Amino acid sequence: MSARLADDGAQPIARRGRLSVIATPIGNLGDLTPRAATLLGEVDLLLCEDTRHTARLLSHIGVRPPCRALHAHNEADRIAAILVQLADGAHVGLVSDAGTPCLSDPGARLVDAVHDAGFAVETLPGPFAAGAGLAASGLTPVPFAFWGFPPKAKAARARWLQDRLTPAPDGGPMSHAVYVPGRDVPALLADLQQIAPDVRVVVARELTKLHEGYIRGTPAVALGLLTAEQARGEAVLLVEVAKPIIGAKALEVDADTEITAAIAAGVDRKPFLRELARRTGKSRRDLYRRWLDIAAARDEG
Ligand code: SAM
Repeated sequence: MSARLADDGAQPIARRGRLSVIATPIGNLGDLTPRAATLLGEVDLLLCEDTRHTARLLSHIGVRPPCRALHAHNEADRIAAILVQLADGAHVGLVSDAGTPCLSDPGARLVDAVHDAGFAVETLPGPFAAGAGLAASGLTPVPFAFWGFPPKAKAARARWLQDRLTPAPDGGPMSHAVYVPGRDVPALLADLQQIAPDVRVVVARELTKLHEGYIRGTPAVALGLLTAEQARGEAVLLVEVAKPIIGAKALEVDADTEITAAIAAGVDRKPFLRELARRTGKSRRDLYRRWLDIAAARDEG
């Protein structure tokens, strides 16, 4: 479908259809804005990441717009049909399960396509966990970077952190926001303890909910303060980086040094390598190879 062009032929004219990108609460229904509540009752179609999840919010405010699912697995397929509805003049709303759509949530491809097709797009701002957590963290708020979710695999995650956690380009401090399910917070703090022991971290937990809390300190201090109970629920991990972090090269040196010392001390290889893999983010197989190489070099020497 091609957009109509304006008189100068340059910019598409907005058609009648309209897409509203609507932020919803991240845990406290009181955070739904009055404007969002009104609009949710007016749209011709509401695109939801999970219709059952959004049904709870809609029943709370007593409105029942027609809902369709738009999630990571069907977004690309649904776009053409949504553009047809917009061409018919529909007012379409977009929400995700919590917070601002498109930010670590589905919707960005649709929004891009709607702009390209020349329809109006408007934003209804509201909760965004990374921004809310950063504002209440006490860390340097500007500049900051939002990275969304890290990879799950340990080695990939350590590299991912090393590549991203930098000071600001002018050498000043910079904060970084990372999304993480609560149960993964201890593992991420352990990664940080290894690759960036001096950074300031804040685990911003259960924001806007009953058990909202902030655990602050170095990665080691935060790990010590975190209870098993707190390592549940939802969290944003905020990291303030004031100087370049150790990085992968230094980690390699660390691993070799530790293996050399372990061989010299005659420690039990298996549990030692399991623990070293956990701390460095390296695979046990790679560390095992290093162990064999270092042991062989030592025997030859
Ligand atoms: N689009 C959402 C936003 O605007 O923040 C984020 C959705 S993302 C799928 C979910 C992640 O956001 C969670 O794993 C957690 O890291 C973070 N999050 C969402 N709600 C939160 C809350 N109440 N407290 C802390 N973190 C939260």
